[in-house]
Amino acid sequence: MTIYALSSGPGRAGIAVIRISGRASRKTLYALCNGRLPAPRVSSFRRLRHPTSREMLDEAMVLWLPGPANFTGEDMAELYVHGGRAVVTAVMNALADVGLRLAEPGEFTRRAFGNGKLDLTEAEGLADLINADTEIQRRQALAQHSGAMRARYEKWWRTLLKAMAYVEASLDFSDEADIADGAFKEAVPEARSLAAELERALADGRRGEILREGISVAIVGEPNVGKSSLLNALAGREAAIVYDEPGTTRDVIEVSLDLDGYPFVLRDTAGIREAASPVEQEGVRRALAAAEAADVVLAMVDGSCGDVGAVPAEGEAGGAPLRGSIAGAAITPSSGVKLLVVNKVDLAPPPAPGSFGPEAIYISAKTCLGLDALKAALVRFASESYGSGEAPTITRVRHRQEIGRARAALVAFLDGAEAGEAPELAAEHLREAADALGRLTGRLDVEDVLGQIFGEFCVGK
Ligand code: GDP
Ligand code: ZN
Repeated sequence: MTIYALSSGPGRAGIAVIRISGRASRKTLYALCNGRLPAPRVSSFRRLRHPTSREMLDEAMVLWLPGPANFTGEDMAELYVHGGRAVVTAVMNALADVGLRLAEPGEFTRRAFGNGKLDLTEAEGLADLINADTEIQRRQALAQHSGAMRARYEKWWRTLLKAMAYVEASLDFSDEADIADGAFKEAVPEARSLAAELERALADGRRGEILREGISVAIVGEPNVGKSSLLNALAGREAAIVYDEPGTTRDVIEVSLDLDGYPFVLRDTAGIREAASPVEQEGVRRALAAAEAADVVLAMVDGSCGDVGAVPAEGEAGGAPLRGSIAGAAITPSSGVKLLVVNKVDLAPPPAPGSFGPEAIYISAKTCLGLDALKAALVRFASESYGSGEAPTITRVRHRQEIGRARAALVAFLDGAEAGEAPELAAEHLREAADALGRLTGRLDVEDVLGQIFGEFCVGK
């Protein structure tokens, strides 16, 4: 079935792009262009007419993109029409009138995948590229889309196939024990090195996923220390509600920020204290949950209060506990990263530098003093922890799960080999690993490649 869709954004615009893919592309374009099919891959100016009523619909630039050397691999056409809503509607209605169907979400890419134009990781990279909000996200998505992950996964795949081929060989030569044994033994180091490589890939601190989703930052502290004010100051707008009354911010409020290309999602939380009302207790519960799930916690204290309370011990890692409150004890972000932020330094007397420990960041959410230093600290943390998105290995939970499965199957193989497990069972473990890696790219078929590799093999000769 030939499909069409508005490929540019919705709403009024100078130009709108309507894309067509499928066998009827040529015929449809021919009719729209009044019998003057443009030369392939060259943009041409045409008056578009309704294929049956002949009514003029628009003047447009059109592209005729015959398959398979294009995005989907099928015949395609693109219409660059005037971006008014009525123009787009008229042209799309005309396409429906001649039997074309509106594409489902992702259907062009799905067809591209079906025609071998890209693998699953490259398709995901394309989706991420379209959704990328910041420079680092763009970089990571583009690397993935242009095959960086696919190359890595296929390299793993080849190592695994080598191991599989040895095991298959040992099964084939089961009548000749020393050949069978010899072949089987060759499989073990291949499986071992791959298992180690997968292990390393999994121990990446979730950098790809975090960059893709945004680095989550929770601002926590007692009521009235200035958490909401900081969020507003960073967001540059009134995103959170600021009141004098302690305990005002009950819900978790989110703001997305682009700092030097790094995507951050800041969450303002309810003040953490022994809450009076049930509503406030619920706020505290959510604040603690947000803090625990965060990649970084900004633990905020009011620097204008004389009572400093629990001053952090010298050299204590990742900041300091909050002064004398339940907050410091209760919050342990799973990432373990906590920055101490001392607010209200505009008030007299300002806290002596270093009085909250060497790592503390001194700010005024009101005058914006110190905000640049705070942003710089966040960016430094991000680049040290997550890199710059150039060589992604894992960017989705799906990847992590499949790599985890492949690794577990390899470990089962290695354990079995050590325990003298039957080669048939060993082969089964490897096949399981291959299935997991195959699902990663969606393109790797065990039977296909195994036949090919095994055909090139000569064991015992
Ligand atoms: P939250 O409960 O921690 O979210 O605190 P808010 O952001 O609601 O602020 C509580 C009060 O402290 C408000 O009256 C703010 O205007 C005030 N405040 C926040 N930050 C500063 C600051 O840096 N300097 C001064 N002088 N007042 C501030
Ligand atoms: Zn607040």
